[in-house]
Amino acid sequence: MTEEAASNLIDVGNRIARSATFGNRNSEDVTLIAVSKTRTIKEIQPLITAGQRHFGENRVQEAQEKWPALIEFNKDIKLHLVGQLQSNKAEDAVEIAHFIHSVDRHSLVTALARAMDKSGKRPKCFVQVNLAEEAHKGGCTVADLPGLLTEAREADLPVIGLMCVPPVDLEPAPWFALLGKLARDHDFPGLSMGMSGDFESAVKIGATHVRVGTALFGART
Ligand SMILES: *Cc1c(COP(=O)(O)O)cnc(C)c1O
Repeated sequence: MTEEAASNLIDVGNRIARSATFGNRNSEDVTLIAVSKTRTIKEIQPLITAGQRHFGENRVQEAQEKWPALIEFNKDIKLHLVGQLQSNKAEDAVEIAHFIHSVDRHSLVTALARAMDKSGKRPKCFVQVNLAEEAHKGGCTVADLPGLLTEAREADLPVIGLMCVPPVDLEPAPWFALLGKLARDHDFPGLSMGMSGDFESAVKIGATHVRVGTALFGART
């Protein structure tokens, strides 16, 4: 199982490289985030040993339980928070994360900006867009994006790009292309898109950060 994760890492890396070539891109411009939610330290460690440095969690509390010790021994690890974030978790999020992918509303912009002022830490942020306006998903609507970006700029939030999770049952490429267009319109270099089932498509279309769990660690139980 654990050795499998290390060999999956090579496989996913190869698939990213191939997709980058197809997309006429440089694979060095794509950061693989190993999404380790629900995985134990024992399952994560082989990937660190194999050289993986970017990891993603979706819950702040789980990140606090697992990552301080791992980062203590591997100081170059970068932790990404990819899940929906409650405003009352903003201080803890800013404390532990190097990147936050789920900024999606005014109250969170305000809470994160205040937490950054207080702590002096400034994790880089992605604004999450709910492209298909799915009820159960985080993310602002396309219509609300310009206003939210203005608020983020006024609050001096370090926003580097946009993030999306497209509908599961539809072809993802058009959504990735739409997110890419929105990022270009707003002059953002970062595009956090692509998961285990669709990261190759995302890389071809321009993803700078892919968030991959299952393809590395196996199915979540
Ligand atoms: C869990 C999760 C992922 C990884 O999903 P896989 O299908 O296991 O690769 C990526 N992004 C977000 C926001 C997630 O919650």
